[in-house]
Amino acid sequence: MQQEGDDGLSQCLLNDKFAPFSLQSQKPFLELLQAPGTNPALARHVGAWSGTLPARPPFAPEQAVRLVVFPTGRVQYVREDLAPGRDANSYFSTQPAPDGGLQWSSSPFQYTLTPTNDPNQAQFALTAAASSATATLARCSVAQADSAPSQQQQPHPTATPAPLTYFENRGQPWTKIPAVVIAGDLNNPRITMVRAAIDYWNGELSAIGSGFRVGSVEAVVEPLPGEALVQRSESILGGQRVPELPDLSVSIPGDMIVALSDANFVSYGGLPGINTRVFVGIGGNQSPRSLPNVMPNVITHEIGHAIGLGHNSDPTLLMCGRPASCRPDDFRSAEPRLFPITDEERATLLRLYPADWQPSR
Ligand SMILES: [Zn+2]
Repeated sequence: MQQEGDDGLSQCLLNDKFAPFSLQSQKPFLELLQAPGTNPALARHVGAWSGTLPARPPFAPEQAVRLVVFPTGRVQYVREDLAPGRDANSYFSTQPAPDGGLQWSSSPFQYTLTPTNDPNQAQFALTAAASSATATLARCSVAQADSAPSQQQQPHPTATPAPLTYFENRGQPWTKIPAVVIAGDLNNPRITMVRAAIDYWNGELSAIGSGFRVGSVEAVVEPLPGEALVQRSESILGGQRVPELPDLSVSIPGDMIVALSDANFVSYGGLPGINTRVFVGIGGNQSPRSLPNVMPNVITHEIGHAIGLGHNSDPTLLMCGRPASCRPDDFRSAEPRLFPITDEERATLLRLYPADWQPSR
């Protein structure tokens, strides 16, 4: 059944079947669609689109599909044959295509959304080696489905976009190039993720012209006792005074200690300048960190703290965190990728670490 939304567009197909809230963020689509954009090239595609995709043997019969393109460049793709609630698994990050459209991929498919002369119509295509299909999608409204039943009589707050909030933190810049030491066993696959996270942050620092870099990983030492790491995590979460570094870490060299634990606790990253050394604690391979794509983002997020970044409120971003409601399982994705940081966060890094940053002696 099609109904008219508040914005004059037809109500999106599938709204009666799929949760009106983004299951990833627990936020209404409308709020996410009004978040600040990260790429002006995306702006023409932002919104919800629906249509019917023809049969594509051997994969699927003809079915209704819906795309929701968010200003952050992520897209949610739902199909009629997905069970309700499965849409949390179908968020992808997109890239602008040469023809002005969007493209993304999820093996075995490549997806494209191509604009037409009509701003309310787009061509959607998915192709794989063994199958392909195209459909014309029409812009549709998620507004009505987003209204909670008790609010349906009230005007929709379309005029007030939800601001992206950056929460305060007490991080001070590093005054030396921090030597990184990993506490964990040598065969820990997360060591590679820590190295990749450091490379990522150094790449960002290089791209903004900062003079600062995180040092390379200098040593891998014995794992730290899980009990001390759990206790530290619980103190941080409880807002209590954070205990000193676990006794055993006194004998560990390095300025930034990244503890890869097997214990189950909420990961944390210390801020520079509060203690002389910064401690990053990464919980073990339990859920949600065991979910696809979560652990590399958790590690990169925590090291983001360790160079001075705080949290923001947008669950589509790398540094989202408390007091916002985003959680590590928001990083879940079938496609391996790091969540993005914002230009404001890049500006924060450049303020902490300008081009002429030099280690002080
Ligand atoms: Zn955090």
